[in-house]
Amino acid sequence: MENKKIFYFLLFNFLFYMIGKGQNPIVQKILNEVNMDSLTFFVKQLTGEEKVIINGIPDTIFSRHKNQPGNEKAFQFVKQKFLGYGLQIDSFQFSASGKNLLGIKIGSIYPTRKFILGAHYDNVGSTIAPGADDNASGSAAVLEAARVFSESTFPFTIVFALWDEEEQGLIGSNAYSSFAVSNNETILGYINMDMLGWDGNNDSVADLHVRPVANSLQLADKAIESNSVYAIGLNLHIVNPGTGATDHAAFWDNGYTAIGINEEYDGDFNPFWHSSADSLGQFNLPFYEKCAKLAYATLADCALDSIISSGISDVWEQPPFIIYPNPASAKLNIEIGSVYHNNSIIQLTDVLGKIYYQELLLNKNSLEINLQNLQSGFYIIKFNNGQNSYSSTLVINK
Ligand SMILES: [Zn+2]
Repeated sequence: MENKKIFYFLLFNFLFYMIGKGQNPIVQKILNEVNMDSLTFFVKQLTGEEKVIINGIPDTIFSRHKNQPGNEKAFQFVKQKFLGYGLQIDSFQFSASGKNLLGIKIGSIYPTRKFILGAHYDNVGSTIAPGADDNASGSAAVLEAARVFSESTFPFTIVFALWDEEEQGLIGSNAYSSFAVSNNETILGYINMDMLGWDGNNDSVADLHVRPVANSLQLADKAIESNSVYAIGLNLHIVNPGTGATDHAAFWDNGYTAIGINEEYDGDFNPFWHSSADSLGQFNLPFYEKCAKLAYATLADCALDSIISSGISDVWEQPPFIIYPNPASAKLNIEIGSVYHNNSIIQLTDVLGKIYYQELLLNKNSLEINLQNLQSGFYIIKFNNGQNSYSSTLVINK
C-alpha cells in the first residue's frame, strides 16, 4: 500500500479500536495518573507511619478511633488535601463526637446530580491501632481519587466522602444518607470502599457488593464492564445481597443506588483485622491498586455521562428494555418499553464492541435471540433510539 493508504488504514483501525473497546480517554488518563507511591504515602500518613502537616505544624495520626485525637487530625489532614485539589468542603457534623468530611467537585452541566465515592476514616482500637486495611486503605483511595480527578471536568457533581463512626454502626453514612433523602437530594450512585489491601492467596478476587435497590444492579454491571474495558484485572465476586456491615448499606437503606468494592470477605479474610498488626506491611499492593482503579474507572465513566447517568436522567426514567434470563445460556428474551419499540436499534455485542446481533425495531416490543453460537462470557445489550443510548450487561453461562 502507498503511504497515504497505509495512514488511513492505520487511522481507521485505531479509531475502530478506540470505539470498539469502549474506553473513554478521560477515564484512561485518570487511571494512568494513579500512583502507587502516592496511594501508599496517604496510607502511611493516616496510620502514623509518616508525619502529616496540620495547620503548618508537623503531627502524627495514631488511632483514628472516634474518641482518639487522631480522629480529628485525620479529618483536618484530609480536609487540607481536598482544598489543595480544588474541592469545596462540607463538614457534616452529626453529633458531638461525629463528623463526616465531604469534598465536592461541582458538575459543569448537572451540578445538583451527584455521584459519591466514599470510605470510613475512623477505626477501632485504642491508642495504637493503625487500621491500615480497615480503613486507611479506603480513605487513602478516596484521597488519591481527589488528586487524580482534579485535572478533569465532569458534567455530574462528584463528592469524595469520608465517613466517621462506621465502627459504631454506620452512624456517619446513615446520618448523611438519611439527611439526603429528607432533603430530596439526587444521588445517582454511591461507591463504597472498605478494606482494599488484603489478598492473602493472591487470586485477585475482590467483592462487589450489591442489592436490588434503585439502580444498584446497573451500577454493579458498570463496575463489571469497567473491570473488563480498562483491563483492571480483578476477579470480581458478586455478592448479592451485599453485606450490611459497611457504609454502602446506609445508602441502600435510604433507597439510593450503591455498590461496595472490597477485598474478599469470605474465604480470604484479613487475619490482622481490628488488631494492632493491621499495617501497610500486610498489603498486597498490586491488588490494592486494582481495587482503587476499579472504583475510579466506574466513578469516572458514570460522572462523564454514562450508562448509569443516562439510565437515571430524565430521558430514561425507566430503562427502555429488560432482558431475561440473565445469566442466559440458550436464548435471551428482550422486552422493550412501549414508548421505544419503533425505530430503535437493539444490538448484542461483546465487551470489545463486536456485534453479534442487531435489529431495527419496527413496532416490535419483544425479541428472542438465539445464543447457541456464542461462548460463555460478558456481553452487552445496547439500545439506541437515535437520540440516546442505553446498555445493560448480559452474562452468557453455558
Ligand atoms: Zn471498615
